[in-house]
Amino acid sequence: MAKLTKYENTINQEGITKAQQESLMQARVLVMGAGGLGSGVIMNLAALGVGYIKIVDDGIVTETDFNRQLIHKEKNIGRARVISAKDWVQEYNSDIKVELDKIRLNDLNYYGVIQGYNIIVDCFDGYESKYLLNEIAIRHNLTLVHGATKGYCGQVTTIIPSKTGCLSCVIPKPKTFNNTSYANISPVVNTIAAFQTQEIMKLITGAGEPLLNKLLVYDGLNTRFKIINYTKNMACESCSAGMF
Ligand SMILES: [Zn+2]
Repeated sequence: MAKLTKYENTINQEGITKAQQESLMQARVLVMGAGGLGSGVIMNLAALGVGYIKIVDDGIVTETDFNRQLIHKEKNIGRARVISAKDWVQEYNSDIKVELDKIRLNDLNYYGVIQGYNIIVDCFDGYESKYLLNEIAIRHNLTLVHGATKGYCGQVTTIIPSKTGCLSCVIPKPKTFNNTSYANISPVVNTIAAFQTQEIMKLITGAGEPLLNKLLVYDGLNTRFKIINYTKNMACESCSAGMF
């Protein structure tokens, strides 16, 4: 067990309690994706002292990652992103246990990946993968911290299938997915990653109120935040009764 003294600047006035820090140090968080959002989330989880982090990604580090993926280093170009991310965490905070899965998650291989974790962080790029995670969370009643960006804009919400609506309730799942790619702007990506990590921190410690049935929408170009309230849609094709 890591020493609490390492986190004395977190455990301070207006910070968290020793018991809450201990809960972070015992927590297990599954990060899906080690790209832009994943980098920011993993780095912030490491700084919080979250004890066990599992990273799932099938990509390798490339030159074009460096416009926003702060966890990777040029020396790791050509290496698996999961290895590169793990190396960063171990150099930064060696108390943290990191597990890896270098796979492209799909409906057939996910079951073994999620074992032992009840908080999943959606740091995937594509919406097809995001809706797959949404459905996995619903099937297994796992908490899903969703994040996404598109150019200067981003969004975050926390889905607890037994308590809240799901991703499809707030943004109906499209019939087909296109592969349009949008600009990834580092301060926007890392702002959304920081909000996702705050959600995880609140879920683990019980402090504050997570974004339950609330979609936070961020417009970085005009520095505006908006909260969109949503509820479980009883006609939702992903989470409505009887689907699974
Ligand atoms: Zn739903």
